[in-house]
Amino acid sequence: MNYSDAERMAAIFDSMGHTRTFDEKEANIFVVISCSVRESAILRIYGKVKDLKNRKDTGEQLTTILTGCVLDEDRKKFDRLFDLFIETKDMPKLPGMLRRHSEFISESLGYRDTDSGYQDDKVGYFAIKPHYESTFRAFVPISTGCDNFCSYCAVPYTKGREKSRPLEEVVAEVKSLIENDYKEITLVGQNVNSYGNDLNTTVISTEMEESSPNEDLSAPLEMTKKAGNNPFIDLIKRIDAIPGEYRVYFYSNHPKDMTDKLITTLAELVHFPHYIHLPLQSGNDEVLRKMNRHNTKNDYLRLVEKIRQAMPDVNLTTDIIVGYPGETDEQLGDTAEVMRKAEYDMAFIAQYSPRSGTVSAKQEDNVSKGEKKRREAILQEIVKASVLTHNQELVGTIQRVLIDEEKKGKYYGRTAGYKVVEIKTGQPLKVGQFIDVKIECVSSWKLFGLQSS
Ligand code: SF4
Repeated sequence: MNYSDAERMAAIFDSMGHTRTFDEKEANIFVVISCSVRESAILRIYGKVKDLKNRKDTGEQLTTILTGCVLDEDRKKFDRLFDLFIETKDMPKLPGMLRRHSEFISESLGYRDTDSGYQDDKVGYFAIKPHYESTFRAFVPISTGCDNFCSYCAVPYTKGREKSRPLEEVVAEVKSLIENDYKEITLVGQNVNSYGNDLNTTVISTEMEESSPNEDLSAPLEMTKKAGNNPFIDLIKRIDAIPGEYRVYFYSNHPKDMTDKLITTLAELVHFPHYIHLPLQSGNDEVLRKMNRHNTKNDYLRLVEKIRQAMPDVNLTTDIIVGYPGETDEQLGDTAEVMRKAEYDMAFIAQYSPRSGTVSAKQEDNVSKGEKKRREAILQEIVKASVLTHNQELVGTIQRVLIDEEKKGKYYGRTAGYKVVEIKTGQPLKVGQFIDVKIECVSSWKLFGLQSS
């Protein structure tokens, strides 16, 4: 989501006539997009903005902007350090904000917002045409905000309740990307499985609703899905019907909302690789309850079984948090058990870091840093073993690979299951091109192969 937000933010700066630099020292406008879950990411912002403040103190003309997942607590900390704060949903207001800010500083930065097309409130966040960073890979937001209130996460408070982008608009952006030779598209939303639930209600708010960490978590959500209707399935079927060779991924799923119908649909689609990111967070029921995840260990394992039955070749990946307040060794054991059974192809394991302002931050962070590190290492070993086993099964197979990088004379690409392949070839290849590769050998994190077409 942050990557996609950055592409939209870049488009606004482009429209104002700014040019980009990849050298921080050259930049005179600096935007930080903050993280929803990890306090450690917030601490890194401190370091960064203090450096920038030092540069300003020596007379450099710099404007610093904070956006992303910013809780009230963060605002209090950062207000004096950043020049401007903007909520993601208000991105189109940025030119006006910069203009007003520039009136207080030098004219020499030359903000040119009058012809930006993004004047205050005339367009919404979704309507911003992003500056795609890549020529073959793009992220397409399908919703913003979230209704789930996981205890450790800031999103429902910072980005508001889930707001879905109209289906036709998503399909149009994806179609245009495919027509412009994009080969890999990722649909992004905090919980793609509940995409469109709000579109089915008669009241569609144009503004994201404000929420508070003190909100009653057990309160029923106002937005309900029409019986039998599943807008996310409608969306992916519409996208799948667009002709061409391309792949579409989506992030992120929530186990409590992944339906049997979605699983059987995915098994049949052509352009959606059998690749599913299914956050586990914890394999222990008590920890899951405290996290407000609304699924149990057995719910999760049943889901994995259904997915593997429908798509035996599926690549499953996950997110896990270790060291959640009060997590015991025994509870970690449940997570390890689920990991062994699920046989992931990748797990993003994070050491719990209390995000101040969230519900879980009110609980004592009582698992030590060293213990979190130890638990992470235990789980890393489990995932490493399952990835290696799966990779070894690919030796001798031909994989369709999308070339995504050339580095030091070597080509790298991704299989449909999103595994990195280092490719041997006797001819120049193009980034963004599909080729067939025969896999010759593997490690846990990489495949090695020879071009076969
Ligand atoms: Fe945050 Fe949970 Fe929503 Fe994900 S599903 S954005 S972790 S509240």
